[in-house]
Parts: sequence; structure tokens; C-alpha cells
Amino acid sequence: MNYIDMHVHTDHSHDCKVPLREMCDTAIAKGLSAINISDHCDIWKWQRCDLYSAAKNSIIDVLDTRAAYHDRLTITAGVEIGDCFRNPKLSRQVAEIEGLDCVTGSVHSVFLDEERYPMASTDFSVLSDERIVEIARRYFEEVREMLELLHPDILAHLTYAARYIKKRYHREFSFMPYLEQLDDIYRYIIAHGIALEINTAYINDNRLPEEDVMLLRRYYSMGGRLITLGSDAHKTENLGNIFPAAHEILRGIGFTHACRFEERMMSRYAL
Ligand SMILES: [Zn+2]
Ligand SMILES: [Zn+2]
Repeated sequence: MNYIDMHVHTDHSHDCKVPLREMCDTAIAKGLSAINISDHCDIWKWQRCDLYSAAKNSIIDVLDTRAAYHDRLTITAGVEIGDCFRNPKLSRQVAEIEGLDCVTGSVHSVFLDEERYPMASTDFSVLSDERIVEIARRYFEEVREMLELLHPDILAHLTYAARYIKKRYHREFSFMPYLEQLDDIYRYIIAHGIALEINTAYINDNRLPEEDVMLLRRYYSMGGRLITLGSDAHKTENLGNIFPAAHEILRGIGFTHACRFEERMMSRYAL
């Protein structure tokens, strides 16, 4: 079986301490055939740090390292560009760095009424139900804006909000009230050839959440066929998390192939 993890972080990301070689050695030990390194480039920080150089350093690390693994593991150079609407020009410059194989677009923070709500560090236990609905709506609006501004190869973790609101804070959360927005996002990515990521982070009972599966069925029924698998690993133990189970679920829905990217060109492999 071909297991390809298209969303992997290394110590070039602020929230990951694992060097590239350690991720590569673990990927081989876990039986993955390829990994795509997608270190963070969180555009909202553009006034504080040199994001362009940081992204470039991650790519250079991959280019310098991959020859040593060429017969055991394919390593591609990606970048996860977050919240690109904070500086679209810089985002596009990062997306054009030489040597990039793949651009992943994501939204990590919601900007609402002059306030920033970083999904990973907002305390959702103290917010009202109404505020959570507003944040979720704005989240999907930002995803839609991001797609138009950046035109990434991959749309990352569309169900990211649930990771925090529901799983970490155990607040009531369902994607049902947002189906109109989600359908609009699906229509856009299908029309523009952008792959939808199945993000397997924070899943520990060895299966995708029911709503995630329902949404994948919905995407499939609308004609969506381009998918990638990404563990979003920041630690070695999360690499390729639940990929065998995810492959089975995807085949059950009707997907026959998943996608990978090299030199910004998509290719497909059988699930
Ligand atoms: Zn992310
Ligand atoms: Zn990530």
C-alpha cells in the first residue's frame, strides 16, 4: 500500500522540535513511501519576522536532505501558508519560492470585530454559543477568501474548528449550520483543481469523526475527487496517523485515488 503523508512539520515550524532527518527516519520505519514537508508560514506575523527567509530555509533543508533518502523515501518541499489575507502579496511571493513542490493553504486565526481568535489558543469555554457561531462562520469566510487570494494546491484541515471547539473544549459543535458555506468552498475547489486535505491530526480512536466522513461523502457527491492525506504531524508518533483506516473509509465512499505534488504538478496514486 502506498501511504503518502502530505502534511508534515519539522523544527522549521515554531511549534515543532523534530529535525527533518528524524521525521524521515520515522516515516521509513512506519512504512510511508513519501512525505511532504509543510512548515508553517503564518502570514499574520509578517511585521514581526522574516517569513520569506524562514520558508526558504525549510525548502533548502529538504533540497539538501532528500538525496540521502532517494531510494527509501520521497521527500517533497511544501509550505503551509496560514491566514494569507493578512498580506496577500507576501503570501504569493512565498508560494513562488524556487524548489517548492506544493503549496498548502490554511486558516488558523479568525479576525472578527478587530479581535484575533487563534483557533489553537482561544479559550472556547468562556465564549457564548452565539460568539462561537460567529467565529465558525467567519472561519469559513476566511477559507473562501484564502482560496481566491492564494490558489493553493491543497486546502488544509477544513474541519479544523472542530478540533478545538468540540474536541478540546467539549462545546456543542456541528458543521450542519455551515453547509451552505461548505458547499460553496467545495464548488470552488472542484472548479479550480484544488485538492481537499483529509487531516488526521487529533484523531486517537483510529477512525475519522462521523461528520468528517459525512462531509467527505458530500464533497464526493458534488464531483470532488482530488484529496490528499495529511497527518499534520508535529511529533514523530503522529506521522501517517490512521492512514490505513482513512484509506478504507475513502475507498468506501468511492474515492479510488489520492493526490501528491511535485514541482507544483499533481499526480494521483491508487488508494
Ligand atoms: Zn494548519
Ligand atoms: Zn500544519
